[in-house]
Amino acid sequence: MRPQVTTALAPSSTLSAADRCDRCGAQAYVRVTLTSGGELLFCAHHGREHSEKLRNIAITIHDETGRLDAAPAVSAAEDEQ
Ligand SMILES: [Zn+2]
Repeated sequence: MRPQVTTALAPSSTLSAADRCDRCGAQAYVRVTLTSGGELLFCAHHGREHSEKLRNIAITIHDETGRLDAAPAVSAAEDEQ
């Protein structure tokens, strides 16, 4: 069974600047809902790094990393720690 990967933005589930990566504290762009019911947040970097494992344990992977393509190259994720 493969997890559903959503790229469409549902207003109620859109990630905000208040959502932080569980690994490094940068702004989160990936939200993973686990089969256990838990939730994990990752920045684009760690979302990619862990994507292989996440697909095995996730029900849904909400991926907003596409928004980064439209953002300036300068990382805004590291200046609000
Ligand atoms: Zn991270």
